[in-house]
Amino acid sequence: MINGELTKPFEAAKGLRQGDPISPFLFAIAMEYLSRLLRGLKHRKEYRYHPRCGKLDITHLSFADDLLLFARGDCKSITTLHACFMQFSAASGLLANLNKSAIYFGGVAQDTKQEILQKTGYSLGELPFKYLGIPLDTKKLTAMQWQPLIDRIVAKITSWTARKLSYAGRIQLVQTVIFGIQSYWSQIFIIPAKVMSLIESYCRSYIWSGANTITKRALIAWDRMCLPKSAGGYNLLNIKIWNRAAISKTYWDLAKKKDRMWAKWIHTYYIKGQRIMEMDIPQQASWMVRKIIEAREIMQQLPTAYLNQSSIKQIYLGMLGNHSKVTWRTLMFHNEARPKARFTMWMQCHGRLMTADRLANWGIQISTRCCLCNEADESPTHLFCECSFTKAVWGRLMQWLRIQVSPNHTYTQMMAWITTQAKGKSCAARVMKMVYAEHIYGIWRERNSRIFEEISRTTEQVAREVPCVCNVRAQGGMRAKLQQLMF
Ligand SMILES: [Zn+2]
Repeated sequence: MINGELTKPFEAAKGLRQGDPISPFLFAIAMEYLSRLLRGLKHRKEYRYHPRCGKLDITHLSFADDLLLFARGDCKSITTLHACFMQFSAASGLLANLNKSAIYFGGVAQDTKQEILQKTGYSLGELPFKYLGIPLDTKKLTAMQWQPLIDRIVAKITSWTARKLSYAGRIQLVQTVIFGIQSYWSQIFIIPAKVMSLIESYCRSYIWSGANTITKRALIAWDRMCLPKSAGGYNLLNIKIWNRAAISKTYWDLAKKKDRMWAKWIHTYYIKGQRIMEMDIPQQASWMVRKIIEAREIMQQLPTAYLNQSSIKQIYLGMLGNHSKVTWRTLMFHNEARPKARFTMWMQCHGRLMTADRLANWGIQISTRCCLCNEADESPTHLFCECSFTKAVWGRLMQWLRIQVSPNHTYTQMMAWITTQAKGKSCAARVMKMVYAEHIYGIWRERNSRIFEEISRTTEQVAREVPCVCNVRAQGGMRAKLQQLMF
């Protein structure tokens, strides 16, 4: 009966559809059955372990729907193993996809290989193959094999080039690329230095030129941008150092956590009770195993305080080392100005904005006159401190905030005064940081629009934009305080 009306009788049926929430559980139960069947193999004299698996009783590894089966490379062992899997197939209805399955041989004679392939019907596989999406090989992956990763990153950057974004906007997008690389390390942890340099170059070029090709132009060096904010950096992740940290972490797990299966395996077959700090690197081991053991040298260079760190992040911070702090660091913390204003202020603090004096040094022909006042040559000191236009805007802003400011600051005195005012997290300090960043941005934008678009605004117009932005962006108590002030 449907909707109160009689219908034709229908058959009840049982079955499983893709996407059914219970299917992973059923799958796990089925795989448990397979595991038990395979574990039974060790009592069969026809089956012999893979030579690197016997001591740990490994017959198979499986995760989700990926399955690796191991056996000694002789016909009898393989056919016994295969029969065991077929028994599972017949009972569960789960079949191996022949197109996605292959046999990988190591040190097996040619005629034995042929016989095994013929009897089982699988194809001959070649390394590297993917397990859980990661390419596995006994050798170092070639540059070619890393190309897909590079291609993906370039494609991502290319998709952004159509958009006109500020430097700050581009930095945010680049951070998503870097984050992707970082999460890659949770699966695979050694990316060759060359590949990383290439990734860095693409990211750097995109930030500074907005293009998807590698250019040399960078106003601030990449390594500097990767420093913590307190050291004048932009806190980007230094992926080369992160890589080394990730390898060290793996080495540390190998040295300390002997209960993990992979660690147990390396200990059983290669370390064999030797002291890992002093043993010879086993030459017959795979590239990856050798690299992990070689990481002991990185660990020796680390300060002892970092030796017991269990996270990659902590080791990374240790490797980043101590850097001298910049005096204006307080401006970079708890600053609620717009990202593009913060970035412009950051560049101004580094003295890296392309003012006329710097362009002239680069041999670029441009009028060196300050376009805001027309009274002097343009330099950072003039533009952001001495210029009568800038002084008028800043004076107007300080009048709005009811703060007394002495008119005769030098550039250094001005920066020192701002940093003192902006120190800490108090409401007044946060207002000062935000207003200063937006002020610098306003001056820089006015300068650019006069040069490139020939549009001029008055000091009053430039100043007015700052309270407008600040009123919108300020949070909580700070907003209430700002709203009490009349511009
Ligand atoms: Zn001027």
